[in-house]
This record gives sequence, structure tokens and C-alpha cells, in this order.
Amino acid sequence: MKGRSRLDLLLVSQAAVSEEVLALQRADWVRMEITTGTQGRPGVKANTLVQGGFGRLEVARSDQLAFYSNKVGGFRVFCGSANITSVFVPAIEEWRSGGPMTVPCPACKIDHPLDQLNYRPPASFGRLVVTAYDVQYSAFAAEFESFMPHLSGPFELVYQRI
Ligand SMILES: [Zn+2]
Repeated sequence: MKGRSRLDLLLVSQAAVSEEVLALQRADWVRMEITTGTQGRPGVKANTLVQGGFGRLEVARSDQLAFYSNKVGGFRVFCGSANITSVFVPAIEEWRSGGPMTVPCPACKIDHPLDQLNYRPPASFGRLVVTAYDVQYSAFAAEFESFMPHLSGPFELVYQRI
């Protein structure tokens, strides 16, 4: 350990997929030597998907949308150039307990869908997430989708400093 925080890279999609599809994808990664087994340990070609490789690669699904964002150092939320983070935080708490997926914007005086704001660093809502844990460099290969023939995008990249 070097005392640094861990960096995870997430590819997030709103697509609904089944557990069977995830199993097919995990088997493909083993066949492509991206991973060595179902636990997602890096294979000899791990660095063809993520520059510098990863500690573990995982794909997960859920029936409901979840919000993925940076942890250590947090994130800020903008509507145009207006920082609306202070109203976003209670809005997402309300959404998580069954409220509407909107935020009353103090800049525009109208409600915005939570998934149509600008997040810095990027954040995203999804049901499908591919996570490369403990990466050295924050970059998936440009052609990463060719390694995920079973998964549906579009994918949004989220960095998680843990
Ligand atoms: Zn606004």
C-alpha cells in the first residue's frame, strides 16, 4: 500500500439485462484472456481493456436505477454554469426514498430530470455497471465495447476515487 486512495473505473448503462447475459459476458472475458476466471482476476490481456490493467473486473445488474458517483473528494452538479450541488443532494435523497427523479433548479426556477445535469467529475444513473477495480490509469480502451458483445450501452464513464 502506498497510502493513496483507490481508483475504480465504471462503465454505466441504463440498459436492462439478465443474469444469464452477465454470465455470457464473464465467460467471454475469460475466453479473451481479459480475466482468468469468474472472480474477475486480471488475465494476460487485461491491459487491452484498461490501460495498465486492473485489480478485478466485475459486471453487475439491478432492476432499479442506481446513482454512481465519485466518493473521495465528492462531485459537483451544474445546470449550465450554475452550481446546484446544494439542492441536488436533498433531491437525490428524496428520489432514493421514492420521490420524483427531478430537482427544483434555483437557476432556472423549473424542475430538471436528475439524469440531465452536468456532473464534475462525471456521475451517472444506471442498471448495468462494469467496474474495473483498482486501476492505475483512468482510461478504458477506445474500442472497449468490442470486449462487451453481450452488453448494451450507451455507456457513461464514471471515476470513483474510494
Ligand atoms: Zn436549471
